[in-house]
Amino acid sequence: MGTTGLDFDLWCFLIPCENCEDSTLLPRQSPLGTFEGPYGQPTDEWPVTLLCQKCGQVFSYLAVKVRRGQMPVQHREGIALLRLRLKDAPENSEGRRGLYASHSRYLRQDNALDKLRAYARKTYGEAVEFEAPESWSCE
Ligand SMILES: [Zn+2]
Repeated sequence: MGTTGLDFDLWCFLIPCENCEDSTLLPRQSPLGTFEGPYGQPTDEWPVTLLCQKCGQVFSYLAVKVRRGQMPVQHREGIALLRLRLKDAPENSEGRRGLYASHSRYLRQDNALDKLRAYARKTYGEAVEFEAPESWSCE
């Protein structure tokens, strides 16, 4: 309420990478919160562990790092936020909250899930087991 249709289409929420100039687009609604309208409403899932698709670096981000930005609707098409959780991860741990990455269903080379699994194996050991991956559309 209170926004025009045009504003609603253009505004989005992003997390700028700590290492490169790329940003990860957040869905309007996901376990991370409701990002709709001018202000984000983050949940207590934060801090979020996020892999940058461009540079491959993983950082933990607080919700205050979320930036409001503008992106044409067509650039969001097919983009989703992917979450990979680790089986048997302790309550309130990074593995329980999940590892996140941006994922495009249009890019054949998009191997976001492989990258997340590789990060988890490097960090928690080769024997780590995963829950089924989940994703939330950014459209
Ligand atoms: Zn990056």
